[in-house]
Amino acid sequence: TVSMELAKKDIRALSKEALQDFFIAQGQQAYRAAQVYQWLWSKGVHDFDKMTNLSKDTRLLLDSHFTINHIAVDQQQRSKDGTFKNAIKLHDNRIVESVLIPAKDRTTACVSSQVGCSLDCKFCATSQLERMRNLNVDEIFDQVVAIDHQSRTYFDIPLSNIVFMGMGEPLMNYNNVLGAIEKITSPEGLGMASKRITLSTSGIPKLIRKMADDGVKFNLAVSLHSAIQSTREKIMPFSIKFPIDELLSSLEYWYEATQRMVTIEFIVWKGINDNLEEVRALVNFCRKFPSKVNLIEYNPIGDDTFMQATKEAMSMYQNKLTAARIINTIRRSRGKDIDAACGQLANKALKN
Ligand code: SAH
Repeated sequence: TVSMELAKKDIRALSKEALQDFFIAQGQQAYRAAQVYQWLWSKGVHDFDKMTNLSKDTRLLLDSHFTINHIAVDQQQRSKDGTFKNAIKLHDNRIVESVLIPAKDRTTACVSSQVGCSLDCKFCATSQLERMRNLNVDEIFDQVVAIDHQSRTYFDIPLSNIVFMGMGEPLMNYNNVLGAIEKITSPEGLGMASKRITLSTSGIPKLIRKMADDGVKFNLAVSLHSAIQSTREKIMPFSIKFPIDELLSSLEYWYEATQRMVTIEFIVWKGINDNLEEVRALVNFCRKFPSKVNLIEYNPIGDDTFMQATKEAMSMYQNKLTAARIINTIRRSRGKDIDAACGQLANKALKN
């Protein structure tokens, strides 16, 4: 009946131990849990019937108790530069976006962590959407499986890198993002290397400290965009609650604990942070701990408050950073023609 269907639990919400308990309670052997777990988290199977080392009866048993919620690639667009943008439909019909970015000998998945975003960065298209909910562990995991599949299909190589730079603020969905990374990296899951994963945050000091305490092995990028508190508050209003001094000390703490360099993401805008005082503040900030700076090309989101700075302003940043011996690169935009570029993932279909 319909009410039975609704009562079925998503099997991927269960830990391996809970799955073992289920099999034992059903008079079956506990090792079945390991087999099912492998189908779910290593092979990414979405159908009990594909679990071919289980008997027909066991498959029916699972099917009568559980569902396997999963994502579906709803729409796919390919950019002239090879970038793929996927509109991903979740089991409750909400949409997020994931991007596959190919480079010469690697591919990167840009994945989402929330439907909409908790924060309110003025320059970001996602912030114009209402935050609806956090993504579950399996919804984050499935994006990686889907993009890995595309990478193998279109570029003949497995997915090599993952960045949490899609929709949402990953640290506002801390447990599920770390839970997904666990499944992505563990040998029982996809077995990808943690060092190929980068979590990008707008900078929430106490959660940066928590990651350090939790001993995470992936890389950290911080969207700074200004090292001057008054400027940052204007472009990222939530940062009133998270002052730059606290952000700085949390990054020093991160480095102490992990010994891993932090990437500072920095967009340079005309009339906002394209002046010498801003560059000096950035240099001082970056001197406090090992870091490298990604200068990001801005992708306009259809509002003229924010405009890409001139080439001269970008060169000024590069020169001053290089003179201060701070590693820096300019991150060129990819997938612009299909709105797959950084910060453009606002899902036009939904907005219209
Ligand atoms: N919330 C996280 C991750 C998602 S945003 C964070 O803030 O880091 C990923 C990156 O895209 C951030 O550095 C963000 O500042 C940047 N970004 C947002 N809108 C952009 C735009 N229109 N053009 C270029 N980069 C943008």
